Amino acid sequence: MKRLGVLTSGGDAPGMNAAIRAVVRKCVFHEVEIYGIKNGYQGLIDGNIEKMDVGSVGDIIQRGGTKLYTARSDEFKTEDGQRKGIEQLKKFGIEGLIVIGGDGSFRGAQKLTEKGFPCIGIPGTIDNDIAGTDFTIGFDTALNTIIEAIDKIRDTATSHERTYVIEVMGRNAGDLALWAGLADGAESILIPEKPDDLNEVISRLKRGVERGKKHSIIILAEGVGSAIDYGEQIQKETNLETRVTVLGHIQRGGSPTANDRVLASRLGAKAVELLLQGKAGRMVGIQSNRLVDHDISDILGQKHTIDEEMYQLSKELSI
Ligand code: ADP
Repeated sequence: MKRLGVLTSGGDAPGMNAAIRAVVRKCVFHEVEIYGIKNGYQGLIDGNIEKMDVGSVGDIIQRGGTKLYTARSDEFKTEDGQRKGIEQLKKFGIEGLIVIGGDGSFRGAQKLTEKGFPCIGIPGTIDNDIAGTDFTIGFDTALNTIIEAIDKIRDTATSHERTYVIEVMGRNAGDLALWAGLADGAESILIPEKPDDLNEVISRLKRGVERGKKHSIIILAEGVGSAIDYGEQIQKETNLETRVTVLGHIQRGGSPTANDRVLASRLGAKAVELLLQGKAGRMVGIQSNRLVDHDISDILGQKHTIDEEMYQLSKELSI
């Protein structure tokens, strides 16, 4: 292959820029031309495509968001949209495409591969909700943002002797909440993978009060439901002054952590290598700190699961 393309799609995640940089520079290293497609699959359909070089990815490794922009495209979900996308790629002489995004974006990449256009997926989402990789790009940064925010809220929780319910992102996955709970010593976590836990949270709060505990932090993953509803229910059942904070999009931005930059650099380079080896329809990932690649169709058929040992530990440490 002599000419490749790269796009970012779905929700942005810190570290996407570091991945774009790695893709571009790895291509330059192998004397392969590289084109950036702006605005995800919509930009692909519209032919929003530009040649990139070493300079076009200078000074972005430390920036959140995505230099190539991202978008959601309903048109691309149709056969016609996918056909238009392939026509654009062919028009620019692009022979392989790297897609940085989440599972929705991988479905798109899978469709292109099935239609004969080779694609490789790089997992970029703060949610860490993709099977076949221990971590997705952006998860570590979002986690650190959450920790910083909760540390601040904890000061107020302690000073005012309040219970706080803090809603974090993660779509249908509880990883951000689980890791944040452990890292911040939260009294309880509520995650979609363990849907029946509210009663336990309430009895734990009551036991805490009996022991003289005056403040608590409960981390709720957005996939469980609304923190406001849970906060009301907790206050009603425990009589504790309960406040709710929804962290929201603060979790998606910011300068990527060293971990995310390194992960993005490794995955970006690996994706280029796979295309140059003639592979297609694969997702790159990291498992036990080793780079791996899996069939996208296998990954999409599997559910990302939480680490049960960590979940158990989070309970043991927050007695
Ligand atoms: P994420 O990649 O973060 O999961 P989305 O689920 O919004 O984000 O998917 C991003 C884009 O990927 C969608 O807007 C659409 O263009 C494309 N996409 C999602 N699902 C499919 C599908 N089944 N077929 C083709 N393209 C899809």
